[in-house]
Amino acid sequence: MEALDLRARVAALTPETRAFIGGTFCDSASGRRFATLNPATGQKLADVVECDAADVDRAVAAARKAFAAGTWSRMAPKDRKRVLLRLADLVEAHAEDLALLESLDNGKPYLDALNADLPDAIETIRWHAETIDKIWGQVSPTPPGVVSMVVREPVGVVGAVIPWNFPLAITAMKLAPALAAGNSLILKPAEQTPLTALALAALAVEAGLPDGVLSVLPGFGETAGQAMGRHMGIDCLSFTGSTEVGRYFLKYSAESNLKKVTLELGGKSPVIVMDGLRNLQPAADQIAMGILFSQGENCSAGSRLIVHRAIKDRLLEVVQETFRTWTVGDPLDPATKIGALIEERHLQRILGFIESGKAQGARLIMGGERLQTASGGAFLGPTIFDGVTNDMQIAREEIFGPVLSVITVDSEEEAIAVANDSDYGLAASVHTDDLHVAHRMAGAIRAGTVSVNCFSEGDNSVPFGGFKMSGFGGREKGLFGHEQYTEPKTIWIQIEA
Ligand code: NAP
Ligand code: MG
Repeated sequence: MEALDLRARVAALTPETRAFIGGTFCDSASGRRFATLNPATGQKLADVVECDAADVDRAVAAARKAFAAGTWSRMAPKDRKRVLLRLADLVEAHAEDLALLESLDNGKPYLDALNADLPDAIETIRWHAETIDKIWGQVSPTPPGVVSMVVREPVGVVGAVIPWNFPLAITAMKLAPALAAGNSLILKPAEQTPLTALALAALAVEAGLPDGVLSVLPGFGETAGQAMGRHMGIDCLSFTGSTEVGRYFLKYSAESNLKKVTLELGGKSPVIVMDGLRNLQPAADQIAMGILFSQGENCSAGSRLIVHRAIKDRLLEVVQETFRTWTVGDPLDPATKIGALIEERHLQRILGFIESGKAQGARLIMGGERLQTASGGAFLGPTIFDGVTNDMQIAREEIFGPVLSVITVDSEEEAIAVANDSDYGLAASVHTDDLHVAHRMAGAIRAGTVSVNCFSEGDNSVPFGGFKMSGFGGREKGLFGHEQYTEPKTIWIQIEA
């Protein structure tokens, strides 16, 4: 596969750019559109329909109508399963085009979209589809003369507002459990990456999802996102994005109908490497994966390397050598491992963090400068700061780019203390050959996922979400992921004894 072949396929793509409301693709009430760009070139990809509060009203009306009619909410579980499995098959059949669209809209390498984002989205839809006819309620231990059942019901109309870093995968992460439970869903993709969610809506029609059950509203956070957060007809709002915007959704809920809110937010995840690790290369490979995959634009990115002094210099040599193999370039080039950052403004923000690292006394030992300037895109290579202390801005704030901050420690206790000294608690990794150290650390670290001798968020069978300011209100993935989209109901029946 060559970049040239892909260019021919790019030319043949005709992305859907209209909003999807009540089962049809349409313009917004205002008639306005906004541009979505290709981050690798800075050029416009398409003008997309811009939804705002009036369109949210329309989508909520359609969603409520469908929910009340029961066309989806009361469909037999095995039939609902069939529709979602068909959707997964359709996504698989269109995987190459969807991956291309994702790469063009987001700037990530095409091969990452094809080999990571797409399989992830497909598996997520299948996994939750398979649960639909396998989740039982409970019969509780009542006194004689009473029968009591506890059942799980869909909450009703779910709103989902999502970020730009894994547009299709995060869409699937919310859509699959929300629809599996029988809800209607209204999704607002990020303004930078609206195209794959719209493509998915077209496939949902083909799969047989009834009208009104799914709406996709491209638009801006301050308008469409806020209108969803404040809507009296939305029962649950599932948000993934920054901690700052997450706070807004709690406020919107408090000031409207007290809708359930689930927040999956930012992170500043520690990666701990302890003294005595025999083989440094596997650790370096995982450290690279943790901070460089997806340009470092990953909520659980391993951005703080906390390393024992005795091993630090040797480890950093291997890490730098490994980082050099992560080629920065055109996302359509199969050799590229780091594509373009989402937009110029984001690159400038990251360069600001790099300046602050230098100003606060950290030592820049790799990268730190924009690359590929002639492309018109926003490119930054692997960047490493040594000599970081945990009070520096680059150790405390989420940079959301390929920037690793190295903090040296002298003991296991200090490593744990530094790891936990953060507002965030999304993920963490520990590299050690000592099972006892692994267990002690996994227990002591305050984070939603602790991976040992790897960088991983686990798979669909395990929950994903954050402690502290990384999350609120529940977990995604696994059966935990269903809880935010269902209400437990007690049915208490007096019977003749
Ligand atoms: P963001 O700025 O918080 O935006 C996320 C979504 O919220 C977008 O759709 C955005 O719309 C919308 N939004 C913005 N302002 C809003 C407002 N005032 N009211 C309602 N909605 C609003 O985050 P981002 O920059 O797209 O993504 C990066 C962040 O997401 C990082 O902090 C990252 O850690 C986090 N993230 C977390 C997870 C996780 O699972 N924990 C996963 C991925 C990313 P616009 O598109 O118009 O801005
Ligand atoms: Mg874009």
